[in-house]
Amino acid sequence: MVQPVIMDLAYQAFRIDVKAGEGASGRCEWRELRNHENADYTSEAVVKRADVGELTSNLERWGIAGSQLVDRPHRRYNPLTGEWVLVSPQRAKRPWQGQVEQPSLDARPSYDPGCYLCPGNQRANGECNPAYASTHVFVNDFSALLPDSPTGESAPLQKAELASALLRAESVNGVCRVVCFSPRHDLTLAELSEVEIRQVIDVWASQTEELGQRYRWIQIFENKGEVMGCSNPHPHGQIWAADVLPNEARKEDARQASYLAQHSSPLLVDYANLEATLPERIVVANERWLAVVPFWAIWPFETLILPRRHVLRLPDLGDAERQDLADLLKRLLATYDNLFGVPFPYSMGWHGAPFPGDYSSVAHWQLHAHYYPPLLRSATVRKFMVGYEMLGEAQRDLTAEQAAERLRRVASALYLDAN
Ligand SMILES: [Zn+2]
Ligand SMILES: [Zn+2]
Repeated sequence: MVQPVIMDLAYQAFRIDVKAGEGASGRCEWRELRNHENADYTSEAVVKRADVGELTSNLERWGIAGSQLVDRPHRRYNPLTGEWVLVSPQRAKRPWQGQVEQPSLDARPSYDPGCYLCPGNQRANGECNPAYASTHVFVNDFSALLPDSPTGESAPLQKAELASALLRAESVNGVCRVVCFSPRHDLTLAELSEVEIRQVIDVWASQTEELGQRYRWIQIFENKGEVMGCSNPHPHGQIWAADVLPNEARKEDARQASYLAQHSSPLLVDYANLEATLPERIVVANERWLAVVPFWAIWPFETLILPRRHVLRLPDLGDAERQDLADLLKRLLATYDNLFGVPFPYSMGWHGAPFPGDYSSVAHWQLHAHYYPPLLRSATVRKFMVGYEMLGEAQRDLTAEQAAERLRRVASALYLDAN
């Protein structure tokens, strides 16, 4: 039985768009969605009108058991970006005849003399890495952002009126750094100890604090695995800082600001409170953190890491929060690796309040991390964002709830430790 208070919160946090009717497939499913404009209701109108009784009966009419959307096409709303994802759970059983990638399970040495990230080795610009013993941060030798660009907006001088609308450019200043997580060439973050993961968290926090003095947006991220285009297996991440808000940050900034104005509470604080009462999307959790497959996930096993209290940025995390985060990351990464028995590839990154900003000007922000892993059905079958997804909107077959359940089933000690 659905609790009224949960439903109320759920409908503040999500909008659900489902066409009533029998399960459909192929072209039919696409037509159903297109015809939604002509249906006898809109999801938003239902949400605004409905009391709890109506919501419950609507959930039944739409084939939703509890808060689960089971076996028919529907769209889910991402309140952080304002975008929708098409979910087609009825397709999850179709046969796969596409690309099969070979997992790379080659044993690596703990030190590789040819690796530009290993301690003591020479990099592309001729500098040598120090003989570091835990983490090491340096400026990327091939930085995508530079600190000394001329400022201003520009458009070609000829036909200036039209060009200023259609051919806009602006300057951007920034810096790109590399963070080596460990001197060990052969380990991944999942295989580091909690103590070592905590050191990485501390570096992320101190780098954010330092770069926030000069730059508006600090993007900490990690690309892991060859399928994510990671060119070096040595465990490392990156930090790109820029004096502008990039697209994803701008979308999240606007959506979180409007949510706070409407609900007097930050969007992701409400979302974490809601998910904490609905165990179906939780993958791992502890006293201070939650990792969930978000309701609106696009990537098959995407997760969102959320603190349980309102925190603006990584440097604001206290000692116990950092310790609990190390515990949560260790368990989440082991869970990912266990799923298909390989070091799980992903892109992950932290989003926190932009700089500068006192608490009142960025109170709509909540610190969080996104994990976007591409693997779909095995170590060798990955998801591609092509076709309808490039031209229409993102689509997935497995529901967020099914993905979370699969991850929970393997959430235990790292598979490598058991061998
Ligand atoms: Zn190395
Ligand atoms: Zn985000």
